[in-house]
Amino acid sequence: RPIIRLRNVSKTFSSGTVALSGLSLDVAPGSFVSLLGPSGCGKSTALRIIAGLGDPTSGTVEWPTSKHDSSGRPEREISFVFQEPTLMPWATVFRNVWLPLRLKGISKAEASGRVMEALDLVGLAKFAGAYPRELSGGMKMRVSIARALVTRPKVLLMDEPFAALDEITRFKLNNDLLHLWETYGWTVVFVTHSVFESVYLSDRIVVMAARPGRVFEDMAIDAPYPRG
Ligand code: ADP
Ligand code: ADP
Repeated sequence: RPIIRLRNVSKTFSSGTVALSGLSLDVAPGSFVSLLGPSGCGKSTALRIIAGLGDPTSGTVEWPTSKHDSSGRPEREISFVFQEPTLMPWATVFRNVWLPLRLKGISKAEASGRVMEALDLVGLAKFAGAYPRELSGGMKMRVSIARALVTRPKVLLMDEPFAALDEITRFKLNNDLLHLWETYGWTVVFVTHSVFESVYLSDRIVVMAARPGRVFEDMAIDAPYPRG
C-alpha cells in the first residue's frame, strides 16, 4: 500500500492562479520520488499539500498506512527541508537540532544521544557547539537535514533543498542524502528542477507539466550508478 496517496488534487489560489489540476500520485514506502518540472508548475504547492501546510481546493490526500488521531487526522510523521536553512542564529548547532525533540517532550538524556547521532550522520558532530554563522552554506544545509531526521520521520519532504548551493557542495550533499536514504529506509519526496539531480538521486521521477499542474510523465528508473 502507498504511504501517500493523492487523488485528483487541484489547487486554485484566491488570486485565481490554478497551481494544480487533477494531480494523482501514489508514493510507495521507501521510495525516493523526484518531482521534476519547470518553475511554476506546482511542485511546491503539491509538496505543501502533502505536508498538510495547505489544503487542496478539491481532491484528496490520504496516508493509508498511518494511524489517525481522534479527529481523524493522519499521523504524518514527516519532516520538511526547505531551500533556505531556517536555523535559529542565536542557538548552537546542537540546540537547533535538539529543538524538535524538545517540542516532542523527549527527555534531555535521550535527546542528547539522538542529536549527536544525527549530527554524526551528516558529518557535523565536531560542530555541535558552533553557531550557524560560523558554518558554510553546505554545512547549514547538513544541520537542517540532521534536524529533519532527528525525529526519525517516515517521510522526508524536500523543496529544492540544494538549489542555493554551489555545484560541488550540491553534488556532495546529493551523495550524503543518497547514503542516508539507503541506511535509513525512509520515503523521500524531493522537488527539483534539475534533471541531473532527479536522475542521480531517485528511483522514480514524476515530471509535472505547467499550466495547470498535473503529472506529465511518471518513470521508474534503475539507478544508473552503483549507490552507496
Ligand atoms: P513550483 O514549485 O513548481 O515552482 P509553485 O507550486 O510554487 O510551483 O507555484 C505554482 C503556481 O502557483 C505558480 O504560478 C505560483 O506563482 C502560484 N502560487 C504559488 N503559491 C501561491 C500563493 N500562495 N498564492 C498565489 N499563487 C501562488
Ligand atoms: P519555489 O521556488 O520553492 O517553488 P516560490 O519562490 O515560487 O517557491 O514561492 C515561495 C513562497 O511564496 C511559497 O510559500 C509560495 O507559496 C509563495 N508564492 C509563490 N508564488 C506566489 C504568488 N504568485 N503569490 C503569492 N505567493 C506566492
